[in-house]
Amino acid sequence: MRIVIKVGTSTLTHKTGMLHIRRVEQLCKVISDLKNAGNQVILVSSGAIGMGVGKLSLPDRPSDIPTTQAAAAVGQCELMYTYDRLFSEYNHTVAQILITRGDTEDPKRRVHFENTVRRLLELNVIPIINENDSIATDELVIGDNDTLGAIAATATAADLLIILSDINGLYTADPRKHENAVLLKKVEIITPEIENMTGGAGSRLGTGGMTTKLNAAKIAMAAGVDMVIANGSDPSVLYDIVEGKEIGTKFVGKKK
Ligand code: GLU
Repeated sequence: MRIVIKVGTSTLTHKTGMLHIRRVEQLCKVISDLKNAGNQVILVSSGAIGMGVGKLSLPDRPSDIPTTQAAAAVGQCELMYTYDRLFSEYNHTVAQILITRGDTEDPKRRVHFENTVRRLLELNVIPIINENDSIATDELVIGDNDTLGAIAATATAADLLIILSDINGLYTADPRKHENAVLLKKVEIITPEIENMTGGAGSRLGTGGMTTKLNAAKIAMAAGVDMVIANGSDPSVLYDIVEGKEIGTKFVGKKK
Protein backbone atom coordinates (compact mmCIF):
# COMPACT_ATOMS: atom_id res chain seq x y z
CA MET A 1 0.00 0.00 0.00
CA ARG A 2 1.05 3.58 -0.58
CA ILE A 3 0.16 5.46 2.60
CA VAL A 4 0.37 9.17 3.41
CA ILE A 5 0.56 9.79 7.16
CA LYS A 6 0.00 13.28 8.47
CA VAL A 7 1.06 14.06 12.02
CA GLY A 8 0.06 17.26 13.76
CA THR A 9 2.03 19.44 16.12
CA SER A 10 -0.09 18.30 19.07
CA THR A 11 1.02 14.70 18.43
CA LEU A 12 4.73 15.53 18.04
CA THR A 13 5.29 18.03 20.81
CA HIS A 14 4.35 18.67 24.39
CA LYS A 15 2.39 21.83 25.14
CA THR A 16 5.77 23.53 25.73
CA GLY A 17 6.65 23.03 22.07
CA MET A 18 9.41 20.62 23.08
CA LEU A 19 9.61 17.26 21.34
CA HIS A 20 7.39 14.47 22.70
CA ILE A 21 10.31 12.08 22.64
CA ARG A 22 8.56 8.82 23.53
CA ARG A 23 5.77 9.35 21.00
CA VAL A 24 8.03 10.42 18.14
CA GLU A 25 10.29 7.44 18.80
CA GLN A 26 7.27 5.12 18.62
CA LEU A 27 6.00 6.82 15.50
CA CYS A 28 9.30 6.34 13.67
CA LYS A 29 9.48 2.73 14.82
CA VAL A 30 5.96 1.88 13.58
CA ILE A 31 6.47 3.67 10.25
CA SER A 32 9.78 1.84 9.77
CA ASP A 33 8.01 -1.45 10.43
CA LEU A 34 5.21 -0.62 7.99
CA LYS A 35 7.88 0.06 5.40
CA ASN A 36 9.69 -3.18 6.22
CA ALA A 37 6.38 -4.96 5.59
CA GLY A 38 6.44 -3.61 2.04
CA ASN A 39 4.33 -0.46 2.27
CA GLN A 40 5.41 2.87 0.83
CA VAL A 41 5.08 5.69 3.34
CA ILE A 42 5.02 9.45 2.83
CA LEU A 43 5.06 11.50 6.01
CA VAL A 44 3.47 14.94 6.13
CA SER A 45 4.81 16.42 9.32
CA SER A 46 3.86 19.59 11.13
CA GLY A 47 5.80 20.78 14.14
CA ALA A 48 8.28 23.22 12.61
CA ILE A 49 6.78 26.27 14.26
CA GLY A 50 5.99 24.43 17.50
CA MET A 51 9.49 23.02 17.80
CA GLY A 52 11.02 26.37 16.89
CA VAL A 53 9.04 27.91 19.75
CA GLY A 54 10.47 25.25 22.06
CA LYS A 55 14.04 25.50 20.81
CA LEU A 56 14.07 29.31 21.01
CA SER A 57 12.34 29.22 24.43
CA LEU A 58 9.65 31.61 23.20
CA PRO A 59 6.77 32.04 25.67
CA ASP A 60 4.10 31.14 23.08
CA ARG A 61 3.44 30.81 19.36
CA PRO A 62 4.61 34.21 17.95
CA SER A 63 1.97 36.59 16.69
CA ASP A 64 4.14 38.39 14.12
CA ILE A 65 5.13 36.92 10.76
CA PRO A 66 8.96 37.34 10.90
CA THR A 67 9.24 35.60 14.29
CA THR A 68 6.85 32.84 13.18
CA GLN A 69 8.85 32.30 10.01
CA ALA A 70 12.12 32.39 11.96
CA ALA A 71 10.74 29.86 14.46
CA ALA A 72 9.72 27.61 11.55
CA ALA A 73 13.25 27.84 10.10
CA VAL A 74 14.77 26.75 13.42
CA GLY A 75 12.12 24.12 14.15
CA GLN A 76 12.25 22.53 10.68
CA CYS A 77 15.96 21.73 11.20
CA GLU A 78 15.24 20.23 14.57
CA LEU A 79 12.36 18.22 13.12
CA MET A 80 14.39 16.75 10.26
CA TYR A 81 17.39 16.13 12.51
CA THR A 82 15.08 14.12 14.78
CA TYR A 83 13.50 12.13 11.95
CA ASP A 84 16.84 11.47 10.27
CA ARG A 85 18.31 10.20 13.51
CA LEU A 86 15.35 8.01 14.50
CA PHE A 87 14.67 6.50 11.06
CA SER A 88 18.41 5.81 10.63
CA GLU A 89 18.20 3.52 13.65
CA TYR A 90 15.96 1.28 11.53
CA ASN A 91 18.04 1.74 8.38
CA HIS A 92 15.58 4.00 6.62
CA THR A 93 16.50 7.11 4.68
CA VAL A 94 14.45 10.29 4.83
CA ALA A 95 14.11 13.22 2.45
CA GLN A 96 12.78 16.68 3.13
CA ILE A 97 10.38 18.43 0.74
CA LEU A 98 9.05 21.88 1.59
CA ILE A 99 6.35 23.36 -0.59
CA THR A 100 3.93 26.27 -0.71
CA ARG A 101 0.62 26.67 -2.53
CA GLY A 102 2.35 28.20 -5.54
CA ASP A 103 4.19 24.91 -6.06
CA THR A 104 0.97 22.92 -6.14
CA GLU A 105 -0.90 25.38 -8.37
CA ASP A 106 1.78 25.87 -11.01
CA PRO A 107 1.35 22.82 -13.28
CA LYS A 108 5.10 22.51 -14.04
CA ARG A 109 6.18 22.76 -10.41
CA ARG A 110 3.45 20.34 -9.37
CA VAL A 111 4.73 17.77 -11.87
CA HIS A 112 8.26 18.20 -10.50
CA PHE A 113 6.92 17.71 -6.97
CA GLU A 114 5.04 14.56 -8.01
CA ASN A 115 8.01 13.15 -9.93
CA THR A 116 10.41 13.78 -7.07
CA VAL A 117 8.14 12.09 -4.51
CA ARG A 118 7.57 9.10 -6.81
CA ARG A 119 11.29 8.77 -7.46
CA LEU A 120 12.05 8.94 -3.75
CA LEU A 121 9.55 6.13 -3.16
CA GLU A 122 11.22 4.06 -5.88
CA LEU A 123 14.54 4.73 -4.13
CA ASN A 124 12.97 3.33 -0.94
CA VAL A 125 13.17 6.69 0.85
CA ILE A 126 10.58 8.16 3.24
CA PRO A 127 9.66 11.61 1.86
CA ILE A 128 8.83 14.01 4.69
CA ILE A 129 6.77 16.95 3.52
CA ASN A 130 5.91 20.21 5.24
CA GLU A 131 4.85 23.62 4.10
CA ASN A 132 7.77 25.96 3.49
CA ASP A 133 6.66 28.10 6.41
CA SER A 134 9.73 30.35 6.42
CA ILE A 135 8.93 31.87 3.03
CA ALA A 136 5.21 31.21 2.52
CA THR A 137 3.19 34.40 2.27
CA ASP A 138 -0.46 34.95 3.13
CA GLU A 139 -1.50 34.83 -0.52
CA LEU A 140 0.45 31.70 -1.33
CA VAL A 141 0.06 29.65 1.78
CA ILE A 142 -1.62 26.23 1.91
CA GLY A 143 -2.12 27.12 5.55
CA ASP A 144 -2.58 23.75 7.17
CA ASN A 145 -1.03 20.34 6.86
CA ASP A 146 -4.34 18.46 6.69
CA THR A 147 -4.87 20.01 3.27
CA LEU A 148 -1.19 19.45 2.44
CA GLY A 149 -1.65 15.78 3.36
CA ALA A 150 -4.60 15.52 0.98
CA ILE A 151 -2.60 17.23 -1.78
CA ALA A 152 0.28 14.79 -1.24
CA ALA A 153 -2.09 11.80 -1.21
CA THR A 154 -3.84 12.77 -4.44
CA ALA A 155 -0.62 13.80 -6.21
CA THR A 156 0.91 10.39 -5.51
CA ALA A 157 -2.32 8.38 -6.03
CA ALA A 158 -2.02 6.99 -2.50
CA ASP A 159 -4.27 4.19 -1.28
CA LEU A 160 -4.80 5.77 2.09
CA LEU A 161 -4.37 9.08 3.90
CA ILE A 162 -4.10 8.82 7.68
CA ILE A 163 -4.43 11.98 9.76
CA LEU A 164 -3.08 11.51 13.27
CA SER A 165 -4.42 14.09 15.66
CA ASP A 166 -5.15 14.68 19.34
CA ILE A 167 -8.78 13.70 18.77
CA ASN A 168 -10.22 10.21 18.09
CA GLY A 169 -12.04 11.20 14.92
CA LEU A 170 -15.08 13.20 13.83
CA TYR A 171 -17.76 13.55 16.49
CA THR A 172 -21.34 14.76 16.20
CA ALA A 173 -20.28 17.65 18.48
CA ASP A 174 -17.04 18.78 20.17
CA PRO A 175 -16.38 15.96 22.68
CA ARG A 176 -14.35 18.34 24.86
CA LYS A 177 -17.52 20.33 25.49
CA HIS A 178 -20.36 17.84 24.96
CA GLU A 179 -20.24 14.52 26.75
CA ASN A 180 -23.02 13.09 24.54
CA ALA A 181 -20.96 13.59 21.40
CA VAL A 182 -20.82 10.43 19.28
CA LEU A 183 -17.87 9.34 17.12
CA LEU A 184 -18.76 8.80 13.46
CA LYS A 185 -17.09 5.60 12.26
CA LYS A 186 -17.66 5.95 8.55
CA VAL A 187 -18.47 8.89 6.30
CA GLU A 188 -19.38 8.27 2.67
CA ILE A 189 -20.72 11.70 1.79
CA ILE A 190 -19.91 15.01 3.47
CA THR A 191 -23.36 16.46 4.06
CA PRO A 192 -24.05 20.04 5.26
CA GLU A 193 -25.01 18.43 8.59
CA ILE A 194 -21.52 16.96 8.91
CA GLU A 195 -19.95 20.29 7.98
CA ASN A 196 -21.83 21.85 10.88
CA MET A 197 -20.20 19.44 13.31
CA THR A 198 -16.69 20.80 12.87
CA GLY A 199 -16.56 23.92 15.03
CA GLY A 200 -13.19 25.60 14.10
CA ALA A 201 -9.91 25.96 16.03
CA GLY A 202 -7.31 23.32 16.75
CA SER A 203 -4.47 23.27 19.27
CA ARG A 204 -2.44 26.23 20.52
CA LEU A 205 0.72 25.49 18.53
CA GLY A 206 -0.76 23.92 15.38
CA THR A 207 -3.22 25.43 12.97
CA GLY A 208 -5.65 22.63 12.12
CA GLY A 209 -8.90 21.64 13.78
CA MET A 210 -11.78 19.65 12.35
CA THR A 211 -12.61 22.17 9.61
CA THR A 212 -9.29 21.65 7.84
CA LYS A 213 -9.64 17.87 8.29
CA LEU A 214 -13.00 17.88 6.54
CA ASN A 215 -11.49 20.00 3.81
CA ALA A 216 -8.75 17.39 3.41
CA ALA A 217 -11.38 14.63 3.36
CA LYS A 218 -13.20 16.37 0.50
CA ILE A 219 -10.02 16.56 -1.58
CA ALA A 220 -9.08 12.95 -0.83
CA MET A 221 -12.56 11.50 -1.36
CA ALA A 222 -13.04 13.31 -4.67
CA ALA A 223 -9.77 11.77 -5.89
CA GLY A 224 -10.83 8.28 -4.74
CA VAL A 225 -8.45 8.18 -1.77
CA ASP A 226 -9.71 6.81 1.57
CA MET A 227 -8.88 8.92 4.60
CA VAL A 228 -8.84 8.02 8.29
CA ILE A 229 -8.69 10.47 11.21
CA ALA A 230 -7.36 8.80 14.35
CA ASN A 231 -5.79 9.64 17.67
CA GLY A 232 -2.00 9.74 17.35
CA SER A 233 -1.28 9.49 21.08
CA ASP A 234 -0.43 5.82 20.52
CA PRO A 235 1.27 5.53 17.11
CA SER A 236 0.81 1.73 17.06
CA VAL A 237 -2.76 2.54 16.01
CA LEU A 238 -1.23 2.80 12.51
CA TYR A 239 -0.91 -1.02 12.38
CA ASP A 240 -4.64 -1.46 12.98
CA ILE A 241 -5.60 1.19 10.45
CA VAL A 242 -3.42 -0.33 7.74
CA GLU A 243 -4.94 -3.74 8.52
CA GLY A 244 -8.35 -2.20 7.86
CA LYS A 245 -9.64 -2.32 11.44
CA GLU A 246 -12.37 0.14 12.41
CA ILE A 247 -10.40 2.95 14.06
CA GLY A 248 -11.35 6.62 14.32
CA THR A 249 -13.38 8.00 11.43
CA LYS A 250 -13.01 6.64 7.94
CA PHE A 251 -13.90 8.82 4.95
CA VAL A 252 -14.51 6.60 1.96
CA GLY A 253 -12.96 7.71 -1.32
CA LYS A 254 -15.25 7.94 -4.36
CA LYS A 255 -15.10 4.72 -6.35
CA LYS A 256 -13.98 5.29 -9.91
N1 GLU B 1 3.48 23.81 8.78
C1 GLU B 1 3.21 24.09 10.17
C2 GLU B 1 4.38 23.67 11.05
O1 GLU B 1 5.18 22.84 10.66
C3 GLU B 1 2.00 23.36 10.68
C4 GLU B 1 0.73 23.58 9.97
C5 GLU B 1 -0.39 22.84 10.69
O2 GLU B 1 -0.39 22.80 11.95
O3 GLU B 1 -1.29 22.30 10.03
O4 GLU B 1 4.49 24.17 12.15
